[in-house]
Amino acid sequence: MIYKNYPMVSRVVFGRGSFNQLSDILEPKRLNVKAPFIYLVDDVFKGNAWLTSRISLAYEDQLLFISADKEPTTSQVDALVEDIILTYKDRPSGIIGIGGGTLLDLAKAVSIMLTNKGESKDYQGWDLVKSPAIYHVGIPTISGTGSEVSRTTVLTGPKRKLGINSDYTPFDQVILDPELTKDVPTDQWFYTGMDCFIHCVESLKGTYLNAFSQSYGEKAYDLCKEIFVEANGSKEALQDKLMMASWHGGMSIAYSQVGVAHALSYGLGYLLGTKHGIGNCIVFDHLEEFYPEDVALFKHMKTIHNIKLPQGICAQLADDEFDTMINVALGLEPLWENALGKNWKQTITREKLRTLYEKM
Ligand code: NAD
Ligand code: ZN
Repeated sequence: MIYKNYPMVSRVVFGRGSFNQLSDILEPKRLNVKAPFIYLVDDVFKGNAWLTSRISLAYEDQLLFISADKEPTTSQVDALVEDIILTYKDRPSGIIGIGGGTLLDLAKAVSIMLTNKGESKDYQGWDLVKSPAIYHVGIPTISGTGSEVSRTTVLTGPKRKLGINSDYTPFDQVILDPELTKDVPTDQWFYTGMDCFIHCVESLKGTYLNAFSQSYGEKAYDLCKEIFVEANGSKEALQDKLMMASWHGGMSIAYSQVGVAHALSYGLGYLLGTKHGIGNCIVFDHLEEFYPEDVALFKHMKTIHNIKLPQGICAQLADDEFDTMINVALGLEPLWENALGKNWKQTITREKLRTLYEKM
């Protein structure tokens, strides 16, 4: 048995208002006056002085507002990298991602592709990155994906939706300031929060489970119940808890794997552009067979928060479209193996997946 030797985020700050320390954290990392810091910021913060006034631009630093309406693609990453290379003589001092999983993943991917030749699609997979990325910082503004702590950056490419999983992917620095999540709309709070809940379920109910993953997964699962079922505490306390649940959920899958919901959700995301959080919810709603108690709890949480999920999103699809989704889902072998064990192919057939997709 060879055990994985995992990299982790090297530095992390936690606390309400810790975002104020951003410039102090970055300044020692400036390589020279021609090597800028590039900030990739969710465009939901455009015109939001409360947040942007705390980003101090010096020398050639640049702030780019980027929409999170679509999940990151390999061509988007390549275009950003090309722009940066053409604009600046020196390599940037750092890339700072401020936003949800979409912006965090973009920041990770751009920092990798600035030091690695070719196109980002060629690095989708496991351990294909050769050179260390440039210094990169993640600052989540919505909690749940665990992208702030994970060793992957999920990109949609020409052939597949798959992460760049590598030792160079994790952030060098993370700033966890729960106050940044205060204006997240309720629906989105639920969808992205449920991503964390589903990470815990898939890790805890998976065959790859070990004490490392279990300890993080159980903590995050309990936090999710405190937040989404018991609503135990002030608004601020719940924001703090969800930010830590996201972190622990991410740590839990680091040493195990996700499962059925993620495999099927990737298919929806690839074909229909359904976003990760809501896609996971749409799928999970139909997975009683695999995760009976947790799906019941999920439905209860939906009711408490009055969440209405879209129905019939696969109703009009043609055979070849179902095939595309099934191919994407079946291609994620480690997820199925984690969920159902080595003999998963005996139960997970194309017909089975088609039946599941038809319910959504
Ligand atoms: P997101 O980043 O796509 O953002 C969702 C919505 O919330 C957007 O409209 C955004 O503008 C808005 N938003 C974000 N912060 C806000 C704030 N403070 N106030 C108001 N609105 C705000 O959502 P997400 O669910 O965090 O991320 C999904 C992405 O994360 C997907 O691309 C998925 O593939 C990726 N992901 C990555 C990992 C990983 O380990 N790398 C894990 C899970 C998911
Ligand atoms: Zn997820």
